[in-house]
Amino acid sequence: MNDIIHLLPDAVANQIAAGEVVQRPASVVKELLENAVDAGAANIQLIIKDAGRTLIQVVDDGKGMSFNDARLSFERHATSKITSADDLFHLKTKGFRGEALASIAAIAQVEMKTKQADDSVGTLVIIEGSDVKEHAPTAAQDGTSISVKNLFFNVPARRNFLKSDNIEFSHIEEEFNRVALVHTDLSFSFYHNGKLLLQLQPSNFKQRIVSIFGAHFKDKLYPVEMTTDVINISGFIAKPENAKKKKSEQYMFMNDRFVRHSLLNYAVETAYTQLIPEGYKPAYFLKLEVDPATIDVNISPTKVEVKLQDERLIFGFLNSCVKKAIGTMSLAPQIDFDGESALEVTQLHPTTDKPVFPKTGANPNYNPFESVSSSTRGGGAHGDSWRKESGNLSGWADFLKEIKKESDNISDETKQHSDNIFKEQPSEELAFDAKSSFILQNRYIVLKLNDNLTIIDIVAARERILFERYSDSLENQPVSVQSSLFPETVTLSAAGAELLLEIKDELLKLGYDIEQIDRTSFAVNGVPFGEEASAVQSSIEELLESYKTNLFLYRSEKKKNIALSLARQKCSRFKPFSNDTETEEFVRQLFACQIPYTTPSGKKTLCVLSDNMIKDMFVK
Ligand code: ADP
Ligand code: MG
Repeated sequence: MNDIIHLLPDAVANQIAAGEVVQRPASVVKELLENAVDAGAANIQLIIKDAGRTLIQVVDDGKGMSFNDARLSFERHATSKITSADDLFHLKTKGFRGEALASIAAIAQVEMKTKQADDSVGTLVIIEGSDVKEHAPTAAQDGTSISVKNLFFNVPARRNFLKSDNIEFSHIEEEFNRVALVHTDLSFSFYHNGKLLLQLQPSNFKQRIVSIFGAHFKDKLYPVEMTTDVINISGFIAKPENAKKKKSEQYMFMNDRFVRHSLLNYAVETAYTQLIPEGYKPAYFLKLEVDPATIDVNISPTKVEVKLQDERLIFGFLNSCVKKAIGTMSLAPQIDFDGESALEVTQLHPTTDKPVFPKTGANPNYNPFESVSSSTRGGGAHGDSWRKESGNLSGWADFLKEIKKESDNISDETKQHSDNIFKEQPSEELAFDAKSSFILQNRYIVLKLNDNLTIIDIVAARERILFERYSDSLENQPVSVQSSLFPETVTLSAAGAELLLEIKDELLKLGYDIEQIDRTSFAVNGVPFGEEASAVQSSIEELLESYKTNLFLYRSEKKKNIALSLARQKCSRFKPFSNDTETEEFVRQLFACQIPYTTPSGKKTLCVLSDNMIKDMFVK
């Protein structure tokens, strides 16, 4: 038999490798920028033409290469960054695989000029489709300039896969951002078709974010900070109301390398649960530092994926420090006229159903997330402790004051923002005069809170109040049942009866004493205090309907589903407030909630127009 196996020529092997490393112009941008950073450059220029199709050039003032290295750098597995496999776990550089330049040179026309500071002449290397055309001394600046022309000139199939210039350009921009964001001590400039798009001076992380994404980000960012033995976390997260439905700015860096890690992303996003509507994405810019020995970045050719040794631990730290940061944010969302975030509006159906509000104190240790998993207030040890400590703190004035006090201990940015919302208080009383409030369109409470105009959506606010109250009853303190002398009978479909049996015990905690008579009928022996027993058939049918609809979303969170279903059912039925005291009581109830400013599904309960915002409205 003839032997048929042979080694592939280098040029072919390189082209195959290039398939993994270079998918599009943006991949070249990433590799060249990373090489410039690894070379210790202080100034890096990115110059592209036609969204990178015809030219991608990176010029740096880093350490440059010797005559021989300049040629060797285009060989596969040629690297100066590691010497043994062990080095993989002490990485300080972006690159280490030694395949980027070889891959790029296999599928483009590349020209490199490089010079080390100590040398009097530099080196020119021209290489096309792995074929070295020139390797000669030349006059050059200190540092390295690499031009990659006509990408995929010899691989038409790949060229045809490229998308429109706009799409390719946005990929390039994204790669540029990923490098420029984290290397804040370096200067970057970015040119497209001869036009300077961005010039970045050395700065701090926040300034860099703002320089890249725009000044409007300045007030949206909240600092995140945590130092432990295992991980250091720093950076910024954006306020919940700045979450976007589509693409959002989500940047996570691990040891200065942009990484994608679905679990860590989840750790951040899940901290926003209840605060942003489902499907929305919060923006974040987080830097994580861990011992390089505990991570493996060598699991994909582009080194964006990363494997972590202490995955769960890091998840926990990240999740808790993001929650903490969100907890310190202002409670009052700014008015946001973004059409996308406008959500459905429930209609008012005033009935005789008089709201009975729980007597709750304010939570001085406000952190909306202490009990997120159970979706209740006071579920955990922390919740209990604030109850005890809160003593006779009965109103939202104290509550807001506490928040303000807390915010004094936090960083300047947070403090400044809180101060804007919770302006200096004379002393005891928060400037809220119920008499000056009024009800608009039978739906909104308009009131002055300090110097801020605050508008509360009664239905949404009531949904939040009831949700927390029901959750509390389910988790901690069942409400008392008002026994009926003549039990009502409720008859359901077979499927409805099944569902009711499933949640019967929970309903008892909410004050509905229900007993099965036969397969589909039930006796209602008692209802919650204040509820009409005669309305119970329709109440239960509606409740079951909503519970069923939510089943998919809250499969594993039965109590949350029940609390939510009941709160939604009841929130739109209420008697209008008959006097200012009732209005005030309602507002107090809202601010005694763990998360007063959104409904459980993330819809806003209130909006605040600060004096500055009002002033701005009158600027021409
Ligand atoms: P890697 O970055 O994984 O080592 P590359 O193919 O990207 O592999 O680069 C190969 C080598 O060429 C690098 O290890 C480095 O020594 C050298 N090199 C590449 N780009 C530059 C640059 N801009 N300045 C100095 N040296 C560079
Ligand atoms: Mg490299």
